[in-house]
Amino acid sequence: MIAAYPPPTSTPWLVAAAILGTIVAAAVVLYALPLLIRARQVARWRKRAPGHLALTYDDGPDDTTTPAVLDLLDELGVPATFYLVGFRSELNPQTAALVRDSGHELGTHTHSHKNAWKKGPIFEFRDARRAYQTLDGIVPPNAPYRPPFGKCSLPTLLAMYAKDRRVDWWTAPANDSRDEQPQPAEAARRLLDTGGPVILMHSHHAEPNRRAFVLALTRELVRQGRERGRLFATVRQVREAAA
Ligand SMILES: [Zn+2]
Repeated sequence: MIAAYPPPTSTPWLVAAAILGTIVAAAVVLYALPLLIRARQVARWRKRAPGHLALTYDDGPDDTTTPAVLDLLDELGVPATFYLVGFRSELNPQTAALVRDSGHELGTHTHSHKNAWKKGPIFEFRDARRAYQTLDGIVPPNAPYRPPFGKCSLPTLLAMYAKDRRVDWWTAPANDSRDEQPQPAEAARRLLDTGGPVILMHSHHAEPNRRAFVLALTRELVRQGRERGRLFATVRQVREAAA
């Protein structure tokens, strides 16, 4: 006698649907939650600290742009926040010491500056952690973390929170890494009109034109920001104002 089983063709579809559902659920937990936290942070800063202006510089230290940015900030007398890359600190220890002694707020920006969404959460977690080892003595142990390209997954986010470290994004990029740039005065005006309180720039540029742009833009942001009565601040101060 032949037993009556259900048609076998439905099972592979069920398995595929279950696998797909698991992948989607994992992606939501791993990546969507940090995106929501980022969106909430940006909205909160824009709404609650519109009179502040935090100049922030990622990707250094290098031996050309970073010292020039430090000199300019010193001349202008404004605070800033630097998010440092571990391997560049190893390559440029003298500039790293300059940044450490500058009095500006310091954070980390991973060791090797890779895109977390391309490398996966395990690499990201280790690379973020490694930056605190390579930058030991340069940044404080609970220095804030800024994910490269703004990409962060949940394990790294939770690991930072567990160590009482902030995870900082930004309210507007200055686009100083592009080849085509507007006039610095015009770029500054737009950022001050609509960019919110935390401006992302870079303290590492190999290209002289980009280096010149970030310096000119910084000068314009400070000049026009002062005309508008903006309060120059570190990211910590923006967070406190928006708390
Ligand atoms: Zn970066």
